[in-house]
Amino acid sequence: MTREIPTNASLLSRLEGEGVLRTGAVREALLSSPRELFVWDGYRDEAYVDWPLPLGRTGQTISAPHMVVMMLEELELRAGMKVLEIGSGSGWNAACIASIVGARGRVVSVELIEELVDFATRNIRRAGFEKTVEIHQGDGSKGWPPLEAEEIYDRVVFTAAASRLPELPVRQLRRGGVLLVPLGDSPAQILTSVVKGRAGDLSSRPVCPCVFVPLVGSEET
Ligand code: SAM
Repeated sequence: MTREIPTNASLLSRLEGEGVLRTGAVREALLSSPRELFVWDGYRDEAYVDWPLPLGRTGQTISAPHMVVMMLEELELRAGMKVLEIGSGSGWNAACIASIVGARGRVVSVELIEELVDFATRNIRRAGFEKTVEIHQGDGSKGWPPLEAEEIYDRVVFTAAASRLPELPVRQLRRGGVLLVPLGDSPAQILTSVVKGRAGDLSSRPVCPCVFVPLVGSEET
């Protein structure tokens, strides 16, 4: 008997059935950023299986689709927004965000590992989002531009787990903005949503348990 290889369509209907994929905007994002363009060589048959996949020998992963979808839904992205992503990895999440914020929006994504900066940059170009997404090599725990104190971003999303809320990316979040971060030490992390109020006050809310690779950086030590 031959094993059926999951497709983007079968993954989407499964995530819809599970109630994880809820909005048309996120559905469109997954259709216009097919995960098969972002997986490492040799993993194409597993591109639409709902689990994380290794990114070569870097020790890093492209996140599981249900986790990426949950974060995209939680961010409530809109056209024209400016978004900071910390942890570019394969570039897939950045491409999905770019598809929603559109040509008037901007995605700034920071990645520590040079090999992944090159990989994500190539993938973003292949998927056609190079006008919206910029990938930088650096320590995203310092924000981007590093140490900038201005409130720049409508949304900030970490795709690596921090042991505590990093200060600089929070500073770079605009009033009324939302920051999503997996908080805690493995394996007991909680995806946490932080909203910056109009007066600059912060309120946080746990979203769900999650498992991410750890954030590495000077703001963590
Ligand atoms: N968003 C990615 C995707 O769509 O493929 C998945 C990201 S992977 C789970 C986490 C990434 O965070 C890794 O590529 C890792 O190198 C990166 N990372 C860890 N600490 C970092 C830091 N301080 N600054 C920037 N990137 C970091």
